[in-house]
Amino acid sequence: MQIEHRANSAVGAALRRRYTLMMLALLAISGCSLSSAAPVTKVVASHWDYGAEGPEHWAELDSSYRVCRSGHAQSPIDLPSRAMLDPADRIGIEYGPIPSVELVNTGHTVQANPPAGTGNRILVDGMPFELVQFHFHLPGEHTVDGVGATMELHLVHRNAAGALAVLGVPMRQAPGPSAFAPMLANAPGKPGAKVTTGPIDPRTFLPADTGQFRYVGSLTTPPCSEGVRWIVLRHPVAVTPEEAGRYLTLFPHSNRPTQPLNGRVVAVSGS
Ligand SMILES: [Zn+2]
Repeated sequence: MQIEHRANSAVGAALRRRYTLMMLALLAISGCSLSSAAPVTKVVASHWDYGAEGPEHWAELDSSYRVCRSGHAQSPIDLPSRAMLDPADRIGIEYGPIPSVELVNTGHTVQANPPAGTGNRILVDGMPFELVQFHFHLPGEHTVDGVGATMELHLVHRNAAGALAVLGVPMRQAPGPSAFAPMLANAPGKPGAKVTTGPIDPRTFLPADTGQFRYVGSLTTPPCSEGVRWIVLRHPVAVTPEEAGRYLTLFPHSNRPTQPLNGRVVAVSGS
């Protein structure tokens, strides 16, 4: 479904202006987390984690991580439920079945890498961004009025110019079944381990109501590169307690704290 973007939308214009200001070169993208799916620039990434070398120290671990501290448009953020409302300003989501995906334990999360050319994409301001990978965080990274979700799914998309758009989906614990069983039940236990699973259908990862927040931010993991278009859904999808528990045993926590808004525009669309 594609909903045409209103070219004269004040919010859209504000977001575009802000994006232009922050049109920074996306460095080697290994975060939030675009490691194995981004054959952009080969860089040996420094170690980082969510513990002793956690978010407070990322900027000190590698010179390419400095923006984790010096940046002024970082993610995640606390989303204000009373943000500017523009019902017409939502993205188009064009998802469909994927026969199989590669599941990787990256040491930071469980990441699914679909093969190229699945046709899964989103349209942001009419511009196509292809789905390149998706992964999880626990607890959820974005909050709404200070309240977070059990987990958060990040569907990472890239356009032809290399810019990123991430669709964040809050996940709330509820009795099964859930759409995440093929991934979380089969998640490989050891860092670097891979398995193949499927079929999966990203449409089943989304709530019926795809009302959304939009803002421009960054990767939520090193190198914290800015200029990322964020779309965070307002309503959660279900994850079973068993699946969240399975993820918890692998990654006790994998969330960056919320970052200052610094005057950025957050728009809300839909209900
Ligand atoms: Zn992420």
